[in-house]
Amino acid sequence: MVRILLVAPPGAGKGTQGALIATHFSIPHIATGDLLRDHVARDTRLGRAVRDRLSRGELVPDEIVLDMVSVAIAEAKANDGGYVLDGMPRNIAQARALYEIGRSLDMTANVALHLKADDEELVRRLLARAALEGRSDDTEPVIRRRLALYHEVTHPIVGWYASRGILVSVDAVRPVERVARQILTALEAMRPLVDHVPEHARRSIDLTGLGAAFGQS
Ligand code: ADP
Repeated sequence: MVRILLVAPPGAGKGTQGALIATHFSIPHIATGDLLRDHVARDTRLGRAVRDRLSRGELVPDEIVLDMVSVAIAEAKANDGGYVLDGMPRNIAQARALYEIGRSLDMTANVALHLKADDEELVRRLLARAALEGRSDDTEPVIRRRLALYHEVTHPIVGWYASRGILVSVDAVRPVERVARQILTALEAMRPLVDHVPEHARRSIDLTGLGAAFGQS
């Protein structure tokens, strides 16, 4: 079963690609940002505790997301055992904790999918989305803060997944359907292997230079 972590800066298309991957493989799409925003919308105790941090673009405390995600991964195990996790881990501590949760449930991720995009493109996309969706964290100063946090604390985990041999990097600065086609092609090609080849025998895959082969215009 494919168990995928999405590691990407805000605006790279984690949510969109996560949903497409989930539909394609019939696996649950666990999106930490969506779960948190849902708590805020329902005005739960957890929602009230995280609302201000979300609006400022700060991370919420690790324990909160780890609790939510452990429950979701246990549920995924009870179903078919696959998942696509979107929005977590966001720092090294979360990456380690998630690995422990995965090990205890025999549900560690077998692919870390990294969506790559430059900051100017990301700011442009997020400002365009702000006009449509009105998310409280899609204002320019907050977008800049989220990007800075990504570079500071989230991006370093990409190297950790590369050294575990489970990293797949994709260039996300292309139309949604082209990015999706490249991701699904790579995941389909890997699918027969993920349950059989031990991590230490795996190699990371960098598809960011392969745009033309996937119809880059
Ligand atoms: P984006 O990637 O565009 O920032 P998300 O929906 O993934 O959007 O996350 C929105 C916000 O939710 C983050 O800015 C942060 O406040 C909070 N959040 C989501 N996932 C985590 C996490 N794993 N750890 C801490 N905070 C998180």
